[in-house]
Amino acid sequence: MLYVIDDEMFDIWAGTLEGRQARHMNGLVGLELERIMDIANNYKVTTDELNRFAEQSERWWVICPRQNLEGECEGRGYHCRHIHGKPRD
Ligand SMILES: [Zn+2]
Repeated sequence: MLYVIDDEMFDIWAGTLEGRQARHMNGLVGLELERIMDIANNYKVTTDELNRFAEQSERWWVICPRQNLEGECEGRGYHCRHIHGKPRD
């Protein structure tokens, strides 16, 4: 399977790595990258959404369980810690 990873998504994720302790990184990085690539492959995440997501103090690289079919949050909205995106066809 060919993975596409969005440049913007990658940059934001890479930004979250700063400040973490190196000894915790090895296994985690691979798992997170896999999860992000999975999201990028299945959902279209907009720049606005990535910017919103980047501003949250806590971020979970998981598609929001409360988003609608358009990828809009029906949960905490702007303050949601999950990421949102319209499912790709
Ligand atoms: Zn949400």
